[in-house]
Amino acid sequence: MKALVADAINEKGIENLKEVCDVVVDTSITPEELLETIGEYDAILIRSRTKLPAEVIEKADNLKIIARAGVGVDNVDVNAATKKGIMVVNAPESTSITVAEHTMGLILSTIRKIAIADKSTKAGKWEKKAFMGMELRNKTLGVIGMGRIGSQVVNRCKAFEMDAIAYDPYLPPEVAKNMGVELYEDIEDVLTRADIITIHVPLTPETEHSISTEQFKMMKDTALIFNCARGGVIDEDALYEALVNGEILGAGLDVYEKEPATNNKLFELDNIVCTPHIAASTKEAQRDAAIIVANEVITLFKGGMPKNIINMPRMNNSEFEETNDYLELCEKLGSFITQATSSPINKLEITYKGEINKLPSKDLFTRTILQGILNPVTETAVNAVNATTVAKARGISITEAVSDDSEGYDTLIKVAAKTKEGQMSAEGTYLHEAKIIKVNGYWVDVKPEGNMFIAKYKDIPGSIGAIGTKFGEENINIGIMQVGRDSTGGEAIMILTLDERPSKEAVKKIKDLDNVSDATCLKL
Ligand code: NAD
Repeated sequence: MKALVADAINEKGIENLKEVCDVVVDTSITPEELLETIGEYDAILIRSRTKLPAEVIEKADNLKIIARAGVGVDNVDVNAATKKGIMVVNAPESTSITVAEHTMGLILSTIRKIAIADKSTKAGKWEKKAFMGMELRNKTLGVIGMGRIGSQVVNRCKAFEMDAIAYDPYLPPEVAKNMGVELYEDIEDVLTRADIITIHVPLTPETEHSISTEQFKMMKDTALIFNCARGGVIDEDALYEALVNGEILGAGLDVYEKEPATNNKLFELDNIVCTPHIAASTKEAQRDAAIIVANEVITLFKGGMPKNIINMPRMNNSEFEETNDYLELCEKLGSFITQATSSPINKLEITYKGEINKLPSKDLFTRTILQGILNPVTETAVNAVNATTVAKARGISITEAVSDDSEGYDTLIKVAAKTKEGQMSAEGTYLHEAKIIKVNGYWVDVKPEGNMFIAKYKDIPGSIGAIGTKFGEENINIGIMQVGRDSTGGEAIMILTLDERPSKEAVKKIKDLDNVSDATCLKL
């Protein structure tokens, strides 16, 4: 086996690797040289300098694994690698401590006015009175997103004798309890109570601008907010207003809506501390990333399965051909059900009906459904390999059943999800394309694609019109409308495809309509 180390990664990782294979270290290799030589290697270890576009991957005939010593894989054409059956692994856990520590740095720097006091002191001023600070002890930390990084921030804040509360709708309450964190179901409860608010969620349609004018207004005027996650979660215009108008006391940012952030109006303000997206940049994180990915390569070379695979595992071609269409359906069903249920799923029942039961790969289908369920709600890149592990860690129990009765279709896949608020189910089939044909037992016929909207309402005259009118008022065109009901005047369900995503306010207005009991937007 032969591995190429194409970027400067920590020596310890390279040493480990040398014990199991030939290692070529060429950290100044050019794209042209890489194109010529990539065919010789079984593994390539990179950071962000080396780019692996489709044309390089196309020539990588012996390559089994691409190991990115870090988190982001923007420099790798992951789809091309997946198609060629090459694993792409990364080291997501390598930066958790580092980012948590940086968050602490921003918190302390802001609450004790260290950054601004540093500037003043070095300018020869001695402004002791100008820099009155506050203690962290007995303050309440409010964490939005209790994943790898959020939970490490909690650990550190506990050492400062702080109380911790959190909002993370996908975290099982027992996990939060074990961490000594009070979990709230409504973000508003955290935002109104916390003294220090820290954001650790992925950037998704749900989290984008989830901290905006309305949220700043509900915070204490002594609150401080920090974002070391992704720019765009906080609405920067609203943050600027909140800081200028004294709606909150201060803020700390490592990430921005537009990066590099060289001309941001927030930089004019004294009550914000800013760093240039460096929360993950420490020697230790780089060392750990190198060791983690070198160990992944070693595991694979020794016949094991790496744990941080972010794409599909290698499958033989005939297996892939047979299952491919159903994999698309499975992912869509998972993504549909997770977005259509507004609280965390704790139980999943999957039923395979009809012809699909002749295929050997039901485990892969279940994993792909989980992939669809988990990917919209976690930063972890969930794939067929890690889906079950991630689901278990989130407390989702899974049962599978088979049935001969496919109700007139060749194949049906039913996914029923239980949350503490109730149950939701979707059934789909593949007829030249993935189709959802039943929702909560009501027959519909809809292609799960693009912007969708689902509402439960009372089946009485005027209900459908009232919803349609709201979209008309928002100037949003409805592409397809499907409705189903249990009985005349009973509960009914509506599924729409929309030409664009409605605003949160627009969805709320529909939810507030008299005969509507639930309304949700989905992106498939
Ligand atoms: P993670 O996947 O371990 O945790 C994310 C958590 O957010 C999960 O527990 C998930 O359930 C929760 N979540 C998802 N949607 C939510 C919502 N709408 N409301 C509340 N919670 C929600 O990810 P992580 O490794 O902890 O990373 C957290 C963030 O930090 C990510 O955005 C990541 O990209 C970012 N990050 C930034 C840097 C940096 O350099 N600044 C470095 C590493 C990671």
